[in-house]
Amino acid sequence: MSDHYGKVKVQLGQMKSLGEDAEKEEVDSEGEMPVSASPDQSSCITTTGTDALGSSNVCKQTGKISSKNSFSKPVQGSAIPAHAVKNLNTPICEYTLHNKGTGKILQGKSESNGNYVAVQASRNTQESFCEDGFKLPRKRRPVMVDTSKAKTSLEALKLSIKELKWKEFPLGRRIACDIYWHGVSFHDNENIVSGQVNKFPGMVEMLRKINLSRAMRTMQELFPEEYDFYPRSWILPEEYQQFSAQIRMVKERDTTVSPTFIVKPDGGSQGDGIYLIRDPSDLKLMVGAQPKQAVVQEYIHKPLLIDKLKFDIRLYVLIKSLEPLEIYIAKEGLTRFCTEPYQEPTQKNLSHVFMHLTNYSLNVHSGNFVHSDSQSTGSKRTLSSVLYRLAAKGVDIKRVWSDIIALVIKSVIAVVPELKLHYQADIPPGKPGPTCFQILGFDILLMKNLKPVLLEVNSNPSMRIEHEQEVAPGVSEYVPSPVDEHVKVGVIRDTLRLMDPFNKKPTVTSQPRAGGSDHGEEIPVDGEAQGRSPDNTGNLPPLCLKQVYPKYTKQFNHLRLVERIAALFIRFLGVKGNMRLGPTAFRTFIRTCKLSNSNFTMASVDILYIDITRRWSCALPESREAGMGLQAFVEAFFYLAGRKFKSLLLREQVVALLDLCEAHPGPQFSVEDRRSLSCSRVLPRAIKTQTLCLSNPQLNSPAAQRRATSQDCRPHQRLKPRTLRANVEN
Ligand code: ADP
Repeated sequence: MSDHYGKVKVQLGQMKSLGEDAEKEEVDSEGEMPVSASPDQSSCITTTGTDALGSSNVCKQTGKISSKNSFSKPVQGSAIPAHAVKNLNTPICEYTLHNKGTGKILQGKSESNGNYVAVQASRNTQESFCEDGFKLPRKRRPVMVDTSKAKTSLEALKLSIKELKWKEFPLGRRIACDIYWHGVSFHDNENIVSGQVNKFPGMVEMLRKINLSRAMRTMQELFPEEYDFYPRSWILPEEYQQFSAQIRMVKERDTTVSPTFIVKPDGGSQGDGIYLIRDPSDLKLMVGAQPKQAVVQEYIHKPLLIDKLKFDIRLYVLIKSLEPLEIYIAKEGLTRFCTEPYQEPTQKNLSHVFMHLTNYSLNVHSGNFVHSDSQSTGSKRTLSSVLYRLAAKGVDIKRVWSDIIALVIKSVIAVVPELKLHYQADIPPGKPGPTCFQILGFDILLMKNLKPVLLEVNSNPSMRIEHEQEVAPGVSEYVPSPVDEHVKVGVIRDTLRLMDPFNKKPTVTSQPRAGGSDHGEEIPVDGEAQGRSPDNTGNLPPLCLKQVYPKYTKQFNHLRLVERIAALFIRFLGVKGNMRLGPTAFRTFIRTCKLSNSNFTMASVDILYIDITRRWSCALPESREAGMGLQAFVEAFFYLAGRKFKSLLLREQVVALLDLCEAHPGPQFSVEDRRSLSCSRVLPRAIKTQTLCLSNPQLNSPAAQRRATSQDCRPHQRLKPRTLRANVEN
């Protein structure tokens, strides 16, 4: 206790100087929490600890702040950098420093990852203790949300904040807010050192069409049956040859077959640049002199129809946290309808976008688009109304919903490894930074046989609650859309409720569901009785977001193999903020895990490194970051696993190699190693003469490199152990 007290005193000393700094900051009095009414000028400290498991292991201590004047101006806790409070022993601990005389509060929380997060007293810690042991009642201040970067989500966000009686800062705030709402990416607002941001670093890049396809393909290689919900895809221009060869083969095998493909430009959205083809020669491969980056995908030609129209589902998914992984699905979503009756693709109808593409942004320009204030009619309807209709026709919607949940969890598992890499690079453990959460938009098509298919995942799903309407010929304006408002405000409001910094409940991991494929006991059908929320949220409806992970951990945890590879990759990165492995670090990985031997010498290891890294770097000419990215490392890992455990299936090989590598202690770096660990321009002497597509030498900082180029790349063909053996074994 006295030890802890001593530490708190040290903290106070540090905070004192920081408090003086903070005096210079503009102070927003409205954001302050009205506290003690006591005339006593002595100071109170409330220290509330929570153990790493989130149980309420509360340690309350009192102490006197030696210099009252140091807190003579209001100071927000989040103005305190992490280093000021990080050294306390308790893994997760919340600190509330309360100067009764001024009514000023300093609050903070050191997370298990070492980050400092500004928090306020939670509902169950709304009392502070004075030296004399008196309990002082304290009123909770509203959660403060910076909406200055919200862009098109602003209207829905405003309504949500209003419903919650929280406080909005439309112009931002010089001192910290609890939540920052960004319209596009994590980096919309730089220099956030505390609170929570509604975007993960790297999400935009990760969910571009090519990167998503790559991540899905990796999972399809490991778990082909589990990942059959993603249509077969090829990446252009790298995989043009394979694509052409495969189509030729299919057509030769059966001359009556003429499959259709959909071509989607990388980074495109809202149907822009999308077209259908039936022959590889119809591909538009170039934009001017530049090869066009795109994904060409098997076209699902038998979709489920309602009213003879093709439609797709927009499902909102919240990633509440990456570590531990927490996924929520919104029970209510949208369905977007085509505006021309569907026919299976023929050469004649390939260009009929209103028949084949469900994008709202395209169909709204069709004369047949029906704006409706009802949730169950028109060209945009709620998901629940569609499920209700299907149920009425005898469809087993419980099964459909359960398949959709599985699709979502598996897709998130596919993208998490790369996200974790971005996260540790942008917010390294031990540095001040916010925590993140994000709402994603899943576009899902139901096939005629009711199997859900993933079309894409949007990092920035539209949160507009108005729609474009032609009010006079040629004149459009935005008018309120009750369907959008109903769905989107619910999603944003309930996301905020789940992220409420005052209402942090430990994650429910105690009873994950076991076995079976049924993950859908609560089906979002229109007309569902709307009860009251079980928590004390006043008049708010029950949460529309349902936790699906870790709830269904048992069914899906075995899929998280690439995440384990990513953890290994991060372990050997060595330099904080870095995302690529240098040749020395790769050697260290091989040496530490004892993967080389007389048949696989370190010279072979260097050649393996060069071979894979070069193909990956060259596949994306604009990539200016040097070194081996995660996906290239995964490829190398698969190769090594195949080499070491020849007789097993790929996923068994990978598991065996992971078990082996994880059993070895962390990397032992020599001083020389450290110098050239990451993305180093210095190659080991043995391979220095090789030419790599590396490096812009001016991009020295990992962060600068990362922002300059946001894409990892994968050459079209994975290394096959047999082919490579000829190269590396000598
Ligand atoms: P965008 O980001 O440009 O909207 P999507 O991948 O969502 O790109 O595709 C646009 C539309 O094309 C989808 O809403 C869907 O209607 C249709 N579509 C996309 N992929 C397929 C596919 N594989 N099979 C059938 N239709 C598809």
